[in-house]
Amino acid sequence: MLLALQAALSKRVGRNAHIHSFMCESSSMTTANFHFDTLAVHAGREDLTALGLHALPIDLSTTNPLPDIERGGDSYEALAGGGTLPQDGSAVYSRLWNPTVARFESALAQLEHAETSVAFSSGMAALTAALLAFAPPSGKKHVVAVRPLYGGTDHILATGMLGTEVTFCAPDEVAGSLRDDTGLVIMETSANPTLELVSIRAVVDQAGEVPVLVDNTFATPVLQNPLDHGAAMAMHSATKYLGGHGDVLGGVIACAEPHAERLRAIRVITGAILHPLAAYLLHRGLTTLPLRVRAQQENARRVAEWLHSHPAVTEVFYPGMNADPAGVIGTQMSGTGAMVSIRLAGGYEAAKQLTSSVQVFTHAVSLGGVDSLIESPAALTHRPVEGDAKPGVDIVRMSIGLEHPDDLIADLTRGLGPR
Ligand SMILES: *Cc1c(COP(=O)(O)O)cnc(C)c1O
Repeated sequence: MLLALQAALSKRVGRNAHIHSFMCESSSMTTANFHFDTLAVHAGREDLTALGLHALPIDLSTTNPLPDIERGGDSYEALAGGGTLPQDGSAVYSRLWNPTVARFESALAQLEHAETSVAFSSGMAALTAALLAFAPPSGKKHVVAVRPLYGGTDHILATGMLGTEVTFCAPDEVAGSLRDDTGLVIMETSANPTLELVSIRAVVDQAGEVPVLVDNTFATPVLQNPLDHGAAMAMHSATKYLGGHGDVLGGVIACAEPHAERLRAIRVITGAILHPLAAYLLHRGLTTLPLRVRAQQENARRVAEWLHSHPAVTEVFYPGMNADPAGVIGTQMSGTGAMVSIRLAGGYEAAKQLTSSVQVFTHAVSLGGVDSLIESPAALTHRPVEGDAKPGVDIVRMSIGLEHPDDLIADLTRGLGPR
C-alpha cells in the first residue's frame, strides 16, 4: 500500500507535478471524514507536504508548455469541451485551466458536499455561465426565478439580455410557473435583502427534472449545504463571506461533474475564469470561514436583538426573529447568519441620516467581510429591480462584522438615537 503510494507520487514528480498531484486519489492526506472546520483548513492542500510545500503555491502562467502536438491537441480538446486536465496532458492556456484555481475549486467542493466546483471571475460571471449553460437562447431558454433575489440576478433575468425568458414567482408557485422549455430554477435563501427563508427541498420537489440553482452567498457552506437538500448547484458570490476581507472578487458554483462540464465549457469560451491570485486569496479565506461566520453571527444576533425594541425601527429582518413557516432553521440552515435588515419609522430621511452618521460601520455596498457595512438596497444593490419587487426606501441592510457588538450598537445609536 505504502509502496504503491510512493510509486504513484514519484511518477508524478517532475513536469506538472504541482498541476496534477492534488487531484489524485493517492494524495498524502485523506480528508473525507474530517469535520467542517478541519476541512476548511486542509481541503485542497492534501498534496502540499509531498510536494515539499506548506503554503498554497500560485501558478501565474498564462500559457503552458505542450508535451507534443498530439497530446497538446488532445488537452485542448478535453479542456475546451469542459473536461478536467488529462493526466499526461498540458493545461495549455490559463483561460482553459489553472492549477491554483483548481485547488480552490477542490476545497470549496468539499465544503459544499459537492463532487466538484467551477470558479469564475465574479458572482455575476458565475450566474451568467449558469444561464448560458442551462437556459441557452437556442434551447430551453425559460428560467423560473423565486423572488426576492439579489438585484443583479433580478436585473439580468428581467432584461433577458442573455436570451433567457423569465417567470418570477413566490416559493410555492414554482410548479405552476414551469414550462416545457424551462431549463433552470433559481432561488436564494436567506434572500437578499429581507432575509426570507425558503425551503430548498420544497422548491426542488416542485421543479422535478429541472435543475435548481441556489444562491448560497448569505448562508455560506458553514450554515447551509444546498446540495444536501436536492439542489443541483450551489452558487456563491465568493466576493462576500468566502473571501471575507473585502479585497477579492470571485464567484463559484459547486455541483456534480456533468453540470460542471457544461459550466467549464462556457467559462472557456467567455473567458470568465477566476484569476489565480484571487483563487489564492479565496482559498486562504476558507481557513477562517467557519470562525468568522460564527463570530459575525453572534454579533448580528446581539445587534438584531437591540434593534428589535428600538422605537425608530418598525421591523427587524433577521432569521430566527421572523416567521419560519417552512422550518428552515435547525434543519436546512444550522444558524441565522450575520446579515440584518431594518425598516425605519422615519422612512427615507431616517435611512439617509443613519447611513451618513455611522463611523464604525462603513456606508458601502457588498457584505460578508470582517468589518461592518451598511447600505440602502433600494438606492444601490437592488436599484435595478422593477416595480413592487424593489425593497422600500425605508429599508437599510447591514452586514455585521467582527467588531465588538457594543461598539456597533453605540454606532447605530448615533444615527437612530438611544433606545
Ligand atoms: C454580490 C452578490 C452577487 C453577485 O456577485 P459579484 O461577485 O458581485 O458578481 C450575487 N448574489 C448575491 C446574493 C450577492 O450578494
